[in-house]
Amino acid sequence: MAYRTIPGAIFGCPAIANMDSKLIDSSKARWRRLKRHFTESFTGELLPRHRAHDDTYVDEARNQRQRSAYRYIFILTAVIMLPIVVNNFYTEQLVPAAATLLLLLALAVNIVLLTLHRESFLSPAMVVAANIGLVMLSLYRGQDYSLYLLFPLLVSVPILFNTRWAIIVGVLSGLVAAPAVFTQYDPTTAASIGISMVLTWLISAWLVYAMSEQSLRLKGMAITDSLTGAFNRRYLELQAARALQDWERHRRSVSLLLLDIDHFKKINDEFGHSVGDAALKHLVSLIKERIRGVDILCRFGGEEFVLLLSETTALQAKIVANQLRRAVEGAQVLPQGRMTISLGICDVRQVTDLETWFRKADEALYCAKDLGRNRVELAETPIVAAVSGITATGR
Ligand code: GH3
Ligand code: MG
Ligand code: MG
Repeated sequence: MAYRTIPGAIFGCPAIANMDSKLIDSSKARWRRLKRHFTESFTGELLPRHRAHDDTYVDEARNQRQRSAYRYIFILTAVIMLPIVVNNFYTEQLVPAAATLLLLLALAVNIVLLTLHRESFLSPAMVVAANIGLVMLSLYRGQDYSLYLLFPLLVSVPILFNTRWAIIVGVLSGLVAAPAVFTQYDPTTAASIGISMVLTWLISAWLVYAMSEQSLRLKGMAITDSLTGAFNRRYLELQAARALQDWERHRRSVSLLLLDIDHFKKINDEFGHSVGDAALKHLVSLIKERIRGVDILCRFGGEEFVLLLSETTALQAKIVANQLRRAVEGAQVLPQGRMTISLGICDVRQVTDLETWFRKADEALYCAKDLGRNRVELAETPIVAAVSGITATGR
């Protein structure tokens, strides 16, 4: 899944990244995504940008990512370390054995804490540092096989290094460990160990990239309408439910716009189904160019679309709706004549459940149709507007 920045033409807001499934296969876009993946690994979280404004989602995603990273590293470290710990006890190397066990225990406690949604006491950078410290301790105590301890670390660094500190700690510790490697092995052996370590790191980084890429693609396919590239009805229902919760908890106003093409049946009959399809795609691109990245455009079914405009009251939504309506009317969508749309609007402040929200927007849309089409209508006067203390919206 790729991202595209679009200007917030209507609200004059800064460009915000927006999802666009059409870019999936271009190799230039692939290269840009790879670059972005590595850049963001160093500077921040790998989160879908269109959700970056959503605090609850960001927290959840960060926690989930951290938890799965810890689990992965714990298993990997345990598999490689446990035989070494046994050998250490057997050869009476008690200090490295105890240190290794301590690290495993700390990781296990962290996993439990994260699973219980509590704060972890080890940061990824600390895990990396502790692991490298352990390798150095074993190396300086003359254990040949202690280098193997570096491999789980190399595999885990691409997962953990979303913090710059992990890299800084990793590079510094690597520099400190290098003399020990070169004093214990002849230069050729030391160099081949170094090369195999770099390769291990690169392969792991590539796997992490491929996995995140694939999951983004699948996620994109599951929530996108294949003809138009707008979000699908499933995604809309999830987002509308979320918006309703946001309104109840934080009093964040959201408007729902139901949009329907006028006389679309006639358009199909007159120009054919393929022109009808092209008109649907054209309409979506026209709308996408005129909304913000935070707004959500979904194909509700057939030639009906829904727009969720965040932080927007019904009256503000009416201005947006009229701009969209005029833009469609003025665009050359059909080979001949013009295409128009009608819109019905309902503000979240007017409702208490999803069903009512959609029903009221639908009633407003049908009012627009009854009054002659190519127009915008607002839902009836709010019932629960008094809750927010904001004046009721009117026509
Ligand atoms: P109104 O102004 O009252 O909305 O009239 P309308 O003709 O647009 O309304 P109606 O809902 O009766 O017709 C919708 C038409 O949309 C019927 C169907 O053939 C067409 N349609 C639905 N999905 C698609 C699609 O994916 N592609 C094309 N080309 N046509 C579609
Ligand atoms: Mg229609
Ligand atoms: Mg219709």
